[in-house]
Amino acid sequence: MPTDARSLSLKRPRTLKAALAMLADDPTLTPIAGCTDVFVGLHFGTLEQRRFVDLWGLDELRAIRIDRPVLRIGALATYTDIIKSALVRKRVPMLVAAAREVGGPQIQNRGTLGGNIANASPAGDTLPVLAAAGARVVLRSIAGERRVPFAGFYTGYRTSVRRPDELITAVEILPIAGRQWWRKVGARRAQAISKIMIAAVRGPQVRVAFGSVAPTVVLATAAAAVLTGGGAMADAQAALRRDIAPIDDVRSTGEYRMQVAENLLDEFWRETDG
Ligand SMILES: Cc1cc2nc3c(=O)[nH]c(=O)nc-3n(C[C@H](O)[C@H](O)[C@H](O)COP(=O)(O)OP(=O)(O)OC[C@H]3O[C@@H](n4cnc5c(N)ncnc54)[C@H](O)[C@@H]3O)c2cc1C
Repeated sequence: MPTDARSLSLKRPRTLKAALAMLADDPTLTPIAGCTDVFVGLHFGTLEQRRFVDLWGLDELRAIRIDRPVLRIGALATYTDIIKSALVRKRVPMLVAAAREVGGPQIQNRGTLGGNIANASPAGDTLPVLAAAGARVVLRSIAGERRVPFAGFYTGYRTSVRRPDELITAVEILPIAGRQWWRKVGARRAQAISKIMIAAVRGPQVRVAFGSVAPTVVLATAAAAVLTGGGAMADAQAALRRDIAPIDDVRSTGEYRMQVAENLLDEFWRETDG
């Protein structure tokens, strides 16, 4: 049953500083950005939270810019902002490819990168991209700012190192050496939650990340090491079985996901050859 709207409260800070002060005063407040994930919880009555802080008006969190040599994408950047950004297209085309496949235009216009990260779903489409890109998450509280390597951001299923008084303010990505590749496999070509997705970089150091194969996004370091060292695809696929052990769930079986992961690794390698 939908949550009774009369039980909800919403604060609307005008500045990031004001938002951080509100969270410092009361860490039980829940930030909302595009509200595309939160609204689903409210609609189905599954969300416990009742008191929210609306970040949508904080334009200072929306910018996409270069702070040489870093590409800095504000947490409130939407998928549409990412798709339209010449900077992201140039520096992280695999993020643009992932953004194009998130939901439909309505979700792309409202859903934010920060929301996808904070929501921490194993099926979050941007997460393998950020892992393969070696991104850093910028977290800010009233006490200051810290940067967390994306590979160390999640601590388990839907948990992260983010404290309740902290907001994700941006993601930072250094220039990436090599060809980038992205694929999402769902029940349909569009508007489908991922059964499995891969983001990969073929450079001097191969980097491969999978989503929807574990409680959190996984960097396939063993498979990547085989490919970096010039090993055969069959050996990389065998190594991949040490990196991931997908489980059965409502969307797919573990066996199917493992087979598709091996196929995707092979497709990545063939399509980025030469
Ligand atoms: C119809 C539909 C289709 C969808 N399709 C896809 C899809 O294909 N792929 C995909 O990955 N996702 C999909 N989603 C999920 C969702 O749209 C994304 O996860 C989106 O990026 C969430 O961003 P948001 O700004 O709307 O987050 P919100 O709903 O506002 O927030 C989500 C969570 O993040 C927290 N949060 C938000 N911003 C911050 C911040 N800056 N700092 C700290 N915490 C924060 C909130 O407290 C909340 O817990 C879909 C959702 C719907 C409803």
